[in-house]
Amino acid sequence: MNGAIPNADAHRIADALRAIVGKAHVLTQSEDVAGYLSDWTGVYHSAALAVVRPGSTGEVAEVVKLCNARNIALVPQGGRTGVCGGGVPVAGSPSVVLSLTRLNAIRSLDTDGRTVIAEAGVVLEALHEAALKLDLIFPLMFGAKGSCTIGGNLSTNAGGSNVVRYGNTRELCLGLEAVMPDGSVINALSGLRKDNTGYDLKDLLIGAEGTLGVITAAVFKLFPAPIARSTAFLSVDKLESAITVLNRLQDQTGGGVEAFEYIPQPAVDVICKVFPAIRRPLEGPVAAGILVEVASSRRHDSEQMEDGSIRLEADVMKLLTELMDEGLVLDAMIAQSEQQRADLWKMRESILEAITESGPAYHLDISLPLARIAHFVEKMDAEMLRLGFQPLTVGHLGDGNLHYALSAAEDQDWATLRLETAKEKVFAELTELNGSFSAEHGIGQSKLSVMAKLKEPAQLAVMHSIKTALDPNNIMNPGKLLPPG
Ligand code: FAD
Repeated sequence: MNGAIPNADAHRIADALRAIVGKAHVLTQSEDVAGYLSDWTGVYHSAALAVVRPGSTGEVAEVVKLCNARNIALVPQGGRTGVCGGGVPVAGSPSVVLSLTRLNAIRSLDTDGRTVIAEAGVVLEALHEAALKLDLIFPLMFGAKGSCTIGGNLSTNAGGSNVVRYGNTRELCLGLEAVMPDGSVINALSGLRKDNTGYDLKDLLIGAEGTLGVITAAVFKLFPAPIARSTAFLSVDKLESAITVLNRLQDQTGGGVEAFEYIPQPAVDVICKVFPAIRRPLEGPVAAGILVEVASSRRHDSEQMEDGSIRLEADVMKLLTELMDEGLVLDAMIAQSEQQRADLWKMRESILEAITESGPAYHLDISLPLARIAHFVEKMDAEMLRLGFQPLTVGHLGDGNLHYALSAAEDQDWATLRLETAKEKVFAELTELNGSFSAEHGIGQSKLSVMAKLKEPAQLAVMHSIKTALDPNNIMNPGKLLPPG
């Protein structure tokens, strides 16, 4: 139980919640709630009065009204794969965790309009599967797809590997159903692609990390499923050249690059060390390692050529040969089967776990203008090595996002390293280069201090005004996203 309010009140609140969602869906025993009180990082823990699992939007609205009337904080929660402590309660405020996982229906799939309406608790991978049955895709893609929910994806404006082609979650969403902090329900699920009737409330709620309301359902765009694909791992001579390779591939394939992921040698090494079953993609050393995937839904691209190859694969191969002749690509492994493609993606999606398993590290999730990435990495890697850190970098390079993790160099003791100095150097360089200190994971609890320091004061002030206007009692996920003040 949360110690911040008397036990008798806590019991009364739990009873009132049971009256709304049913006895089985209010958890209060410590062994039942424990799993809901930390996220993937395991860093953030706190207590909660209860975990509530509503089964409908109406029940969510009643729970929100109750908590608003009694000034109880509500922490919306999806799959708990967030990496910033956004989905777990903070100490000090009596909180109810609102798990959306029972809202897991795909309400409708419109094949003509190519849209889908899904509830917040639908697991991302389940949405992939539902779309694929109709030869369509929902292109949001990343390692946590088997556990994260679309409510969490919307609330963090998740990105992942396919942003280079399809955009992030915001760009995939056409409208929302949501419960606002006073318990009112907004229903904007028409799926219209044009609707200029005032402020776009979906854009306010997307990326708000549950601080402005509870998302209960959303309507998303779907896309034709690719019927031809080419996946390869490249060793590019240097990071700067990788941007040229990206643009040449885009030109050659009519913007067909679906993923362009940066995986340099230190990242390959840590993955293969922690997961020995994962094979190295290339026999020799990797310079700027790139996992690239190009795809097309055009019949023309999937036609078989005289030599038996598929046209898209042949086009990619021709370009890669040119790039090798020019010295931009040093080596390449092209997936020859679905299994080889899956192996390459397994390697990419294992990196976060590999870094976490291999010892203490500080994870930065940053973005930069494409033209400045190489400069940033070269300068910061040198600085970090001087400070005793081994940078372990991977990134969704095609959209300018780097996951820049700082681990201890082999001969160094993490406890003695000057992490604050390292962070200051990185943030100063980001500011200089017009980058962002949070590309796709959000702010949560973990980036509040850098948000206070680096976000433009005028923008922060507007955000505070919006929060106060919509949630005057500050019940929605307090202590997240907005630094105090
Ligand atoms: P949770 O962790 O449960 O919650 C996240 C935030 O959303 C919290 O602030 C919570 O309060 C809020 N929230 C959840 N549901 C709702 C709702 N219905 N209404 C209002 N607020 C809500 N992220 C990326 O963007 N790109 C990646 O490539 C990526 N790769 C990852 C790889 C791994 C292995 C892991 C573990 C995580 C990765 N993530 C990535 C981070 C994470 O998966 C995403 O942030 C994901 O969108 C979180 O979804 P979730 O359902 O787990 O949300």
